Amino acid sequence: MIKGALIDMDGVLYDSMKYHTLAWQQMMREIGIECSRDEFYLYEGMTGKATIDLIFMREYGRHCDDEEARRLYDRKARLFIEMGKKDMMPGAREMTRRLTEAGVRCVLVTGSAQSSLIDRLEEDYPGVFPPERRVTALDVSRGKPDPEPYLKGLAKAGTLPEETIVIENAPLGVRAGVAAGLRTIAVTTGPIPREEFEKEGAFRIYPSMTDFAQSVDKLLEELSL
Ligand code: CA
Repeated sequence: MIKGALIDMDGVLYDSMKYHTLAWQQMMREIGIECSRDEFYLYEGMTGKATIDLIFMREYGRHCDDEEARRLYDRKARLFIEMGKKDMMPGAREMTRRLTEAGVRCVLVTGSAQSSLIDRLEEDYPGVFPPERRVTALDVSRGKPDPEPYLKGLAKAGTLPEETIVIENAPLGVRAGVAAGLRTIAVTTGPIPREEFEKEGAFRIYPSMTDFAQSVDKLLEELSL
């Protein structure tokens, strides 16, 4: 029986990755570093500091310090907010409705600290992710692809690993879910090809959240056998 679902936020609950990637690219350009927008889809799931650190190592051969990382992440977050209201991912509300109706407890597990989206959860997904069932960038010392965020999510769900699924849209997020020993569902809502999710050991791969939402009941039934 599946009793818990650990659910990522950006690219799963919100169609927000196109804005995140653009905000990252613009912020980096402001400090004189040219990045392709698509590269940020590969870092998706990592904390802001880890992403900045990775690019600093590549460009300058040094780590960024905490103060620098905070300032740059704040700037990126500001650019993201200025891009306006982000749409919910089509199919995502239907997915959470079907999970909830099947008695599955949902827990948010995000590498984001972006309060502009986190604060909207209750309005957009009423009752699905109460504050005690959220793991954000502020709750972990090692972000995705480390298993820590999903292990913390599992503890918040109060379910056993075999009773719990992860729902992700990013290869590093799938890696984190698999490393936590959980069946990890990939929904390919961005430009990353299906093969990358296969390589990371995704349990199932769906081409859109709408497709996954329509398959939730069947999947839960299958996993209860
Ligand atoms: Ca994501």
